[in-house]
Amino acid sequence: MLRIFTTAITTSLVLAAGAFAQAGFEVTDLGDDVTMLANARAGNVAVIQAGENIILIDTQMPPFLDDLEAAVMEVTGGEAPTLVINTHFHGDHVLGNAHFRALGAGILAHRNVAERLANPVQSQLTGNTPEPLDEAFLPDILVGEAMMLSRFGVTGEVLHFANAHTDGDIIVALPGQKIIHMGDLLFSGLFPFIDLDAGGTVEGYIAALDEIIAFTDDETRFIAGHGPLSTRDDLIASRDMLIEGRARVAALVEDGHDLAAIQEQNPLSDFHDDWNWGFITTERMIWTFYRDITGLTQ
Ligand SMILES: [Zn+2]
Ligand SMILES: [Zn+2]
Repeated sequence: MLRIFTTAITTSLVLAAGAFAQAGFEVTDLGDDVTMLANARAGNVAVIQAGENIILIDTQMPPFLDDLEAAVMEVTGGEAPTLVINTHFHGDHVLGNAHFRALGAGILAHRNVAERLANPVQSQLTGNTPEPLDEAFLPDILVGEAMMLSRFGVTGEVLHFANAHTDGDIIVALPGQKIIHMGDLLFSGLFPFIDLDAGGTVEGYIAALDEIIAFTDDETRFIAGHGPLSTRDDLIASRDMLIEGRARVAALVEDGHDLAAIQEQNPLSDFHDDWNWGFITTERMIWTFYRDITGLTQ
């Protein structure tokens, strides 16, 4: 079942016709008490309903929080989340933390998330340095390598993948439903953001996809951090693109080309039509491979 959350759309229409871009969330009932909420503007969200426990995976960011809260409440029949799980520290996944904490939720994340939210570093890709966040945003339940979710009434597990997208990514695996929320370990059909300033590496990202591909099958459904609900074939396509793209850039580096020369040759040109998007363009993907291989930014 796929439906548009109509309340939020109505709200935006009242504000201004130009607010269409903020309109509502696409709400997808995945069955077995799991629902995906997506607005294509910030990280995809999931709701897990387990009796008294309502788990929200990622919290998006302003200005979407009132719409997100309304969509969550529509799904749960008015019950606020009791637990937030952050897949990682990026703003489009955590800037709603304080909003949902104020409604009563605890916040669970990998332990590196707390440190990165409190002490942000500049991104050399964008030039931006996020504002440090205060305690209202910080996780209070810290995960190391893995944690079972049984204490929250859910048969499932969070698993840490080091040095992939960042150094603090967890996925949420629900084996009974065969659903995995990948966070930003999956940009489905899109060049991935690999945050080299926050502990991410291309090798680690490929290794994470490899490992997840190995313990899932064709029936598993994957909620991507960005992009549509996905299958294992989408993970395989992302991994294969990264392996091939990295090899092409590495060969040019080996031949003595600098970044400007490699951008000029555009070794990813045949990937462009399928994978290029607004944030991680083909040029930024080449930059990422080059910096990952050489440690240089030019
Ligand atoms: Zn994201
Ligand atoms: Zn991210």
